Amino acid sequence: MRVAVCLIMCMLLPLVPLSTVQADETHDQAWPGEPVDNHVHMTWAAMTLEVNDWADTYPEIVDLISIGESELGKALWVVRLSDWSTETQPDGSQKEIIYIDGGHHGNEYLGTALAWLSAKWYINGWAEGNEEAINVLQSSEVHVLIMLNPDGNDIDTRWNINQVDLNRNYDHYWNTCPTTQPGSAAFSESETLANSVYMNTVVPEADLYVTMHTGVWIMLYPWGKWPEQPPDWELFHGIREDVNGGISEIPIQNANQGLYPNCGTSRDYGYGAMGFPTFTFETDDEQFVPGSFEDLNERLGEEMDVMRYLINNVWYWRARLDVQSIAVEDDMLTLDIVNHGMASTANASLEYITANGEVSWASPLFEVNASNSSVVSFAVNDGMFGADGTWNLNYQKRVINAATWVNETVNVTATYDDGEQDRFLTGFGLFNPLSVLATIIGVAAFSNERDLRRKPDEIEDDERNATHEN
Ligand SMILES: [Zn+2]
Repeated sequence: MRVAVCLIMCMLLPLVPLSTVQADETHDQAWPGEPVDNHVHMTWAAMTLEVNDWADTYPEIVDLISIGESELGKALWVVRLSDWSTETQPDGSQKEIIYIDGGHHGNEYLGTALAWLSAKWYINGWAEGNEEAINVLQSSEVHVLIMLNPDGNDIDTRWNINQVDLNRNYDHYWNTCPTTQPGSAAFSESETLANSVYMNTVVPEADLYVTMHTGVWIMLYPWGKWPEQPPDWELFHGIREDVNGGISEIPIQNANQGLYPNCGTSRDYGYGAMGFPTFTFETDDEQFVPGSFEDLNERLGEEMDVMRYLINNVWYWRARLDVQSIAVEDDMLTLDIVNHGMASTANASLEYITANGEVSWASPLFEVNASNSSVVSFAVNDGMFGADGTWNLNYQKRVINAATWVNETVNVTATYDDGEQDRFLTGFGLFNPLSVLATIIGVAAFSNERDLRRKPDEIEDDERNATHEN
C-alpha cells in the first residue's frame, strides 16, 4: 500500500506547482468552476513503475508488454487485462477484444489519464470482487496503450520529439487535409508505426477502439476526412442514442462535422483501414490535480460511465447473424435470419458445403440490417442439396470494407418439403441461369427490408470552432 501511495506521489509531486497546492484547499469550490491553470502530469517514468507494479501484483489479470519504442527510446507499454486463467469466454466462444490508446498528444493529460483510468478501474474492480469488472475480464481482453507519445509528454508538447503531430501521421488519406506537421510520410514516426503494427498483428479482431484526447468535451466517430456519415452510421448513431439516453449528454458526432476536417488520424485509420468501430474520446481541459485513483475516478466519472457502457456491450458492436431456419421447397430456399448485433452487414452469403468440403452452392450476397430479422428467398434446384452436407454463413462484421469476415457453420438442419432422402449434386454453380435468377429474387426480397432502415440524421449543424482538437 505504501508503495502504491509513493507511486502516486512520485507521479504527481514533481509537477505540482505551489499555486495548485494552495488552490487544492478550495478544490470543492473550484471544481467544476474555473479551470486550474496547470496540467495534471503523469510522467512516463512514473507510469513505467506503476504498470510494472500492476503486472507484478496482479499477474492473473495483467499482462504487460512493450510494443516498441518512442523516437527517444522509451518503451510503449500496453497493459493487457483479462482473466488469463481461461482462453475463452465462459460459454466457450472467443473473448471480445477492446483496444484503447491515450497520449497521442503529449500535453493532453486528462485524455491520457482516462486511458490510465480505463485500465486501473478494471484492476481495482477485479481486486475488490466487483461483479462488472470480473465479468468483463472473463469475457474480454482489454488492451490499453496509456501513453503513445512519452517524449512529447515529458516536455509538455503536442508533438513528438520530431515535431510531428502523431494523430496526423497514420496511413489513411495521410496529408490530404489542411494540417500542420503530419510527418514526412505516413507512419514515419516510430510511435504510430508501432501502434499500427499492434493493431494489425495483435488486435485486428477488436470490436471497439477508443483513442483518448483532451480538448473539447466530445466523442467523435469517423470520418475526419469527410463530412458524410460513415457506412456504419447505424451503429454509431445507435450508440449515441444509448449514451445520450441516460448515461451522458456528451456530444457524439462525425469528426469532420463535430470538429473540422482532419486526415491521417488514428480514428480514421482504425475504422477505414482496420474496420474497428472507433471513437475519439475527448475529455474537456479543465484540470485539477488528482491525488488518488478515487479523485481521478470522480473527475472522470462520467467519461468512465461511457467507457464502461462501451466495454460492457462490446458484443453488440458488430453484425451477429443467427440463422433461425433454412427451408427448401418448390425450388426455393427460404432463409430466416436474425442479426443480434447493432451493426449491419452488407454482403452475407449462405453456402452449402458438401461432405467432402466443397462449396457447391452459394447464395447471392444479401444484407441484414442492424438489430433486425429478415426472411430471404433464393431460387434453387431443390435436388442440389444432400443430406450429409453442412451450411456456412459468410459475412463481414460491419459495412465498412475493412471489416473482418466471419465464416461460421450454421447450426440448424434444413427442412425439405418433399421428404426425398437421396439427393445428388447436379453441378449447379454460381454462374448458371438459376443463380442469376436467384440474385434477382434476393435483391427483390431486400428492397422491402431497406424501407425499414433508419434514415441517416441530417448532417449536424453544430459546428465548433475548437482551438484544441483531436
Ligand atoms: Zn489530441
